[in-house]
Amino acid sequence: MPFSKLGLSAPILKAIEEQGYTKPTAIQAKAIPIICNGKDIIAAAETGTGKTASFVLPILQHLQDAPEVRAKRIRALILTPTRELAIQVEANVQLYAKHLNLNSLAMYGGVDDEPQKAALIAGVDILVATPGRLLDMYTQRAIHFDEVEILVLDEADRMLDMGFIADINKIVERLPEERQNLLFSATISQQVRFLAKTILEDASEITIKSKKDKPKINQWLIPVDKDQKSALLSQLMQENEWPQALIFIETKRGAAKLVSQLEKRGIKAEAFHSGRSQAIREQLLADFKAGKLQYLISTAVAARGLDIDNMDLVLNYDLPDQADDYVHRIGRTGRAGASGEAISFVSRDDFRSLCYIEKRIGIMIPRKNVKGFEPRAEIPKSDLNWKPKSPQAKGRR
Ligand code: AMP
Repeated sequence: MPFSKLGLSAPILKAIEEQGYTKPTAIQAKAIPIICNGKDIIAAAETGTGKTASFVLPILQHLQDAPEVRAKRIRALILTPTRELAIQVEANVQLYAKHLNLNSLAMYGGVDDEPQKAALIAGVDILVATPGRLLDMYTQRAIHFDEVEILVLDEADRMLDMGFIADINKIVERLPEERQNLLFSATISQQVRFLAKTILEDASEITIKSKKDKPKINQWLIPVDKDQKSALLSQLMQENEWPQALIFIETKRGAAKLVSQLEKRGIKAEAFHSGRSQAIREQLLADFKAGKLQYLISTAVAARGLDIDNMDLVLNYDLPDQADDYVHRIGRTGRAGASGEAISFVSRDDFRSLCYIEKRIGIMIPRKNVKGFEPRAEIPKSDLNWKPKSPQAKGRR
């Protein structure tokens, strides 16, 4: 089905065409007509499926002919878990709205709030915000919610994981009762379902099962001792000459240390973590997206929700504790039909995490030893039916 059959107006279709999209992705084909009909939805869709456009386009369609918005009022509110995602979603709004007379704003913490207040006074139709800063602005009476018509919860599972439930409830309680609600989540857990029950009304449920949209990701792991990881990484970087790689590491300190270890071997990389200023993070992200920066070494929290295009390679320098985080990380690659590669360094200490991950993804990740880096401490054979022995492992996924 082409975009033109989805009932979107000519200026929106023009913007889509300019993006080079030829046809809607599965989530777009399913969600857009339902949202345009004014219904609430709950959708299971990960980043990389085109989910952002699936809610932004109907919002634009709905708001395009509305009279100018009053100062400090907004018409559509999109809540996101992180500032990076807020920036990215708002950038998409701008792209798709470029032939419309609608204003948008990304609002998040960690930066001066004065420019955000000024923008609200000048008029914002579509606000993309993180919950904490939004509540702060509401308390300061810099924003009123009485004209909100559409609420979007993007990456609802992440927001719950990050402990935003109380903030979300406070915000929702203050919105007009009569409104449309759209909830997007990579996974529909029991908690997400509970949240949906309190917020949505008579919602249509959309799950994307189509394999066609599933990115092909070539995953493999390299068994390696912990103290050999940085030497292994620099050898692989020198041998493979990867155009770009997004590298995940556990701690901020680890990220900074790795950057300096690589530097000593003549490899330039940048650390991306919450200890760096917002301005630097934005600059790094822009440089990375523009291809000016080859290696970005990021902690998991900093990288949540990032939309980095044309990512060929994701490398887990450290395996995440949570299996869902692994799925999210490798979701940075192989987007929109392209294939990608996900390499993980796994040491003996990571065995437990590896078992959780393999159980979650339902496959055993192929192992490849690299000559000269075979681990002294062998990693046991994994088993998809593995069960933790110790009680402290409870609660991990
Ligand atoms: P998202 O899942 O919203 O993070 O989108 C993932 C990527 O897919 C983004 O880079 C979008 O620009 C791109 N995208 C969204 N819709 C389409 C489409 N219909 N055709 C091709 N690419 C798309």
